[in-house]
Amino acid sequence: MRLIIMGPPGAGKGTQARFIAEHFKIPAISTGDIFRANVSEGTELGIEAKRYMDAGEYVPDEVTNLMVRNRIDDADAVSGFLLDGYPRTLAQVEELDGMIKFTGHRLDAVVCLTVDQDEIVSRLLQRAQVEGRADDTEDVIRRRQQVYLEQTAPLIEVYKARGIVHEIDGLGEVDEVTQRIFTALDVVPES
Ligand code: AMP
Repeated sequence: MRLIIMGPPGAGKGTQARFIAEHFKIPAISTGDIFRANVSEGTELGIEAKRYMDAGEYVPDEVTNLMVRNRIDDADAVSGFLLDGYPRTLAQVEELDGMIKFTGHRLDAVVCLTVDQDEIVSRLLQRAQVEGRADDTEDVIRRRQQVYLEQTAPLIEVYKARGIVHEIDGLGEVDEVTQRIFTALDVVPES
């Protein structure tokens, strides 16, 4: 299974990614999490990424692509993976296509979470308090939403043209949303 979960910042991608990945026994690969781990470890990659993350901008494609290429080469991702937060630009879509094609596989599905913009801002401000993320101030949140709309939302059309997008209403209780995703992906509940 090779999956992508997409949606605007604060749509609940990370939470849902964990449930989906657990079900399919594949790693959930979050580029944001990998960047944050590098920032806290003070690596060269972390120092470079932080400048962009703190401003709500995207880390350059070359840096991000290389990082994902290395990660999906890891042994645990050989039989599949769920990407959370990647691809985010058209250049990343092309790069990912190349990576998957090279291994002789295909992208199975794109789960796209939809949520109301105002709901998102309040969710993100709440998360900022809980997790203390430097990129969750109101100005940066708004910038991240704008960058998402400009650079990432158009990718949905690209994947829709391939017939692999499942649009899921991201509002509601976490397990309700998970159930919607599983229904869309034809997951039969375990009895
Ligand atoms: P996230 O946790 O997915 O919201 O990502 C946090 C931040 O990491 C983003 O606002 C970007 O600065 C950076 N980032 C994560 N994924 C990508 C990506 N695919 N391309 C560029 N920047 C990214």
